[in-house]
Amino acid sequence: MTGTALPVVDTGCRDVPVLKERGQREVFCGLTGIVWLHRKMQDAFFLVVGSRTCAHLIQSAAGVMIFAEPRFATAILGDRDLAGMADCNEELDRVVRQLLSRRPDITTLFLVGSCPSEVIKLDLAKASQRLAVEYVGKVRILSYSGSGIETTFTQGEDACLKAMVPALPETQEQNLLVCGTIADVVEDQFTRLFRELGITNVQYFPPRRATQLPPIGPNTKLLLAQPFLNETVRALQARGATLLSAPYPLGVEGTTAWLRTAADAFGVAPERLASAIAAPAQRARTAIARYKPALEGKRMFWFPDSQLEIPLARFLARELGVENIEVGTPYLDKLLVDAELDLLPRTALSEGQDVEKQLDRCKAAAPDLTVCGLGLANPLEAEGMRTKWSIELVFSPIHGFDQAGDLAELFARPLDRVGRLKV
Ligand code: SF4
Repeated sequence: MTGTALPVVDTGCRDVPVLKERGQREVFCGLTGIVWLHRKMQDAFFLVVGSRTCAHLIQSAAGVMIFAEPRFATAILGDRDLAGMADCNEELDRVVRQLLSRRPDITTLFLVGSCPSEVIKLDLAKASQRLAVEYVGKVRILSYSGSGIETTFTQGEDACLKAMVPALPETQEQNLLVCGTIADVVEDQFTRLFRELGITNVQYFPPRRATQLPPIGPNTKLLLAQPFLNETVRALQARGATLLSAPYPLGVEGTTAWLRTAADAFGVAPERLASAIAAPAQRARTAIARYKPALEGKRMFWFPDSQLEIPLARFLARELGVENIEVGTPYLDKLLVDAELDLLPRTALSEGQDVEKQLDRCKAAAPDLTVCGLGLANPLEAEGMRTKWSIELVFSPIHGFDQAGDLAELFARPLDRVGRLKV
């Protein structure tokens, strides 16, 4: 494959051939997920078992919390550990005991694996089982890997949630389980809308408190709020849940279709849905319209990073008139994005990354805006290209009607900055 532009065809992307690349990648690792997961689950603690690099990454990504007790930390593997001279399991048990005796507020402890812990083959699954016996009835101890080998940063959440699935209580009741971290304010908005539709048995996963795990069973309907939970979805399906295939609640169209999917699954009349969403959808349309002049006709290139690329490209193309040149995604799991592919106007799709080749394609296409990770954004800006950091789209509340205007603004802002600098 050379650095030439990919062919672009007409409407709907379900049958578009996907360019699959496996080469050098520029992405953050799964530890990054701790930044939003620790904010969401307020009684959980994340103990990274890693190196100083890992500590530095989450410390700088999450900022130093000076007003509250932190809810993440790194047990640093020193030279003696890495050289196999120390008993890492004993050390880990000692650190965990010290932490839990000092912090009785912790109800769930995640031992988070990293590249170094994987390299020395420290088995955190076994460690969590061993410690879980010691703390049974007091602290739930789980483990997952946030290692950067072969992963992208949103997979940290997928691995974390998958680790929680076996602990979810069983139910035979009909319920709606919304899966994927969303801001509390957005969760409250959705809960109000579901209530207006008469859907009242709604839970969210992850929950706000790790002790209040949502129940699951054969009558659970699963509605995804995030498109990166590939393994979690399969684990929930194995527990009996039925996945509702829907576009993601981004923008007016996505949010409407997402709610309609839930409404149809729970037998809600279309008129009731139309009446419940009329006002917030209109507010969202008005908010989005403000950014259309800045975005309409702009050409956008997406590097694979957050796995939100396909739903966001669909929103920008259909509601703001953006032309997507290439939409790259780290993984393309049709189970999770089929409904999105039907809506995404024809564009070139790529999965995985060979960063040099993709940079060549991007530069040859000369987009108005490039959506990419931090590692690529600064060099591209230095070359005079405008960029949007994809990680910001995971940290910001962007779901639902009331956030649709803010979501459009996140893309309009870098373009607006160019205009101001020119003035
Ligand atoms: Fe780096 Fe790996 Fe640690 Fe992530 S887990 S910060 S990629 S060493």
